[in-house]
Amino acid sequence: MGLPANAGKLVSWEFQSRNNSLVFTTDEGVKPQIKLVDNPTRLVIELPGTTLGRTTVKEKYLGAIRGFRVGQSSNDTVSLVVEMAPGYTIDVKRVKLNNSSNKRWTIELPNPKIAPTATANRTSSPINRNNRPPNREPLARPLKPLNSPRPVTPNPSPLDDTSRNANRVTNNSSYVKTTRNGFFVDIEGDRGNRVTSRRDGNKITFDLENTTLPEDLASQSIAPGQYGVQEIKFTQTNSNSAQITLQLAPNSPNWLATFSRIGGLILVPRGDLPDSNKPETVAGNTTTNTTKTSSQSNPSTVTAIAVAHDNSRLIIRSDRNITTETKFLRNGIYEIRVPNAKLIEPFPNPRLKAGSPITQLRVRQEGTNVVFVVTTRLGARLGNVVEQSSNIVALSINVPTQRVVDLSRTPFAQQPNSSPRNSRPLVVIDPGHGGKDPGTIGIGGVQEKNVILPISLDVAAELKKQGIEVRMTRDRDYFVSLQGRTDFANKINADLFVSIHANAINLSRPDVNGLETYYYQNGRRLAEIIHWNVLNSVNIRNRNVRRARFYVLRHSKMPATLVEVGFLTGAEDSARLKDPAHRQKMAKAIAQGIIQYIREKKI
Ligand code: ZN
Repeated sequence: MGLPANAGKLVSWEFQSRNNSLVFTTDEGVKPQIKLVDNPTRLVIELPGTTLGRTTVKEKYLGAIRGFRVGQSSNDTVSLVVEMAPGYTIDVKRVKLNNSSNKRWTIELPNPKIAPTATANRTSSPINRNNRPPNREPLARPLKPLNSPRPVTPNPSPLDDTSRNANRVTNNSSYVKTTRNGFFVDIEGDRGNRVTSRRDGNKITFDLENTTLPEDLASQSIAPGQYGVQEIKFTQTNSNSAQITLQLAPNSPNWLATFSRIGGLILVPRGDLPDSNKPETVAGNTTTNTTKTSSQSNPSTVTAIAVAHDNSRLIIRSDRNITTETKFLRNGIYEIRVPNAKLIEPFPNPRLKAGSPITQLRVRQEGTNVVFVVTTRLGARLGNVVEQSSNIVALSINVPTQRVVDLSRTPFAQQPNSSPRNSRPLVVIDPGHGGKDPGTIGIGGVQEKNVILPISLDVAAELKKQGIEVRMTRDRDYFVSLQGRTDFANKINADLFVSIHANAINLSRPDVNGLETYYYQNGRRLAEIIHWNVLNSVNIRNRNVRRARFYVLRHSKMPATLVEVGFLTGAEDSARLKDPAHRQKMAKAIAQGIIQYIREKKI
């Protein structure tokens, strides 16, 4: 069969793994068709009536999106394929298809998420088949398109030099806000970080020490068109320093960049701006470069924010009456907006004590609003205004009370059967074996009980950091029976049970390595989420989520899982499990999985 006479050609394409977007052009009009295909999960974009004129092109990435390829899938159809990491899927309904013409398309993909019950009991995964652990360097650099009349720049790495990075200019960014005085850049950084600047004609360059830009901001350019700033360019110059370049209109004043006490970088002009450069939305009269609009009354000044000593309230101070609007954003994060207000300069850094129900407080000036972004500890909630006077507003903080279960001495002491429940999640971490029971003995005589205890302790520590209540069935090297373990978890009415073990097959099989995660009754989702979290951040092979009749899984009443963190008889795994850094990574990933599960199930 020959090619259709009127077939168009795919001229160029670029998959930007950093922001999950795919741009492509054809020389004839095309109507892309999008579908999700399983095993491995991949998004397929078919271009009917199109030819590629070359062999398949493949790219590999780290992260939840693992690969991208372009190939001729049939005589007159080119397919662009975005492949997910094992265990991940994508919501095809949220894929956005945009085009400036029927020849030039942009496809924006939502962030991949862990697939529900996607791969439990799968007997062979792509990773097993090609015998490759999931967490390796990219196998190929992203490729340049061929025959492109308008070459699309390949996805730049954050370490690329600036000249190649000026290819993404947008009008706004969620990281950059126009404020009443200048701009606020929502990046991490301490007030102590050194910022140096130099001016070259109408260009000012700021070098930021110890600063890592978010991936989707690095190498981005923003054209705010306000305050006489034509473009703000962000560059990650090396692994811990970044650069911001302002391209100014002629005769612009100098600019100053400082890290705010609360986080974020403030960019303000140093002198007066020419009138024509003033933004239209400015209100207030506090600084040299702002004017007051007649429609606004005098803004109030917000002078401080603090958590009350007893942790029961969040208090905002101001010079006169203010109103607040609280909005729940997501996952324990709230936004408090104070209309017609400005921040006192400098705004005092709020102190958050250890154990505070608020884990992060950020503040920014957004037009005529002061905006606080409040992150609560897991389980804590920000409530309504409970107190208001001429100079303070207090919002309640609802903190779950501690469970009244005292297990400090002996874990299996008689406990009240009906310990009061509260909203703080309670997780039992169960390091296998111990004492007279060494568990498996692996290569070089390494004992399972000693490998898994440090991992379990680290998992517990990670969870506690997140405000999760944790009990361990053993925290040292002593023996606990299987029944003792599950009785304990059932008695304290734990929400989750996570048992941690290391695997073994036979010393003559050093080739068998990998992660296995087990469930029996209702722990399947928990097992899956932990399993894929580990696979995607730890260097280990995948041996799948499995169902098995382990005692601790059958006898615990709550969702329970048993993680086999690798084979002590395996050459790869036993070597890695000796490395404390590997064990810590493993622990972090297991904890991350538990937290993700808790958030998903809203425990
Ligand atoms: Zn074991």
